[in-house]
Amino acid sequence: MGLRFVSYTLSSADAPGRWSLVTFLKGCNFRCKHCHNWMLVVGTPKEKILEREILYEISSNPVADTLVLSGGEPTVHNTDKLRDFILRVKSRAPHVKVRLDTNGYLPEVLERLRDVIDGFAVDIKAPLSKPDKYSFTAGRDIDTSRIRDSIHIADGLPLTIYRTPSYPWLSEEDIEEIRELTSNLKSPWFLNEFFEVPSCPFNA
Ligand code: SF4
Repeated sequence: MGLRFVSYTLSSADAPGRWSLVTFLKGCNFRCKHCHNWMLVVGTPKEKILEREILYEISSNPVADTLVLSGGEPTVHNTDKLRDFILRVKSRAPHVKVRLDTNGYLPEVLERLRDVIDGFAVDIKAPLSKPDKYSFTAGRDIDTSRIRDSIHIADGLPLTIYRTPSYPWLSEEDIEEIRELTSNLKSPWFLNEFFEVPSCPFNA
């Protein structure tokens, strides 16, 4: 049995300059404050959409040129299944690029997908030199060397980007440190607006 998805949507705002079919997988290994998709993380969403439905949609949609694997955290799913699915997308719709969105905590998964994928969107949620702040944001103890490894694996792929929400607890100095880190990388970094999610159970 292949991957099972909770939902999907068409978006022009997800991958810069592209129309994406954004697919959502449940589960995550983080518990971030103000998580927009917390229902996918700890809820009990029905995984009702089969791979073949996504393959049909991406190969027949006249607008979409990109498939985004998002969540939740896609890398917590079986790596062989992720790899097989990406290869099936490439075979069925060779014009479509594939990107996976990740919190970067499983670099070993990114390494296994690197040769079949067009890029990753890697979150950089706090300065890598501040594991306490990273852990505060992610709601669990964080070894920031794992994020650094993911960045190095993802960097330079055609669709790779880095993203940082403007969390109110990040200082100017924190943002500057992330800006400095990413200015030495090949792929672009985006400082995104922060949107409060009062209903998120991970805020406490
Ligand atoms: S990494 Fe954080 S923000 Fe992203 S889905 Fe997991 S808990 Fe939510």
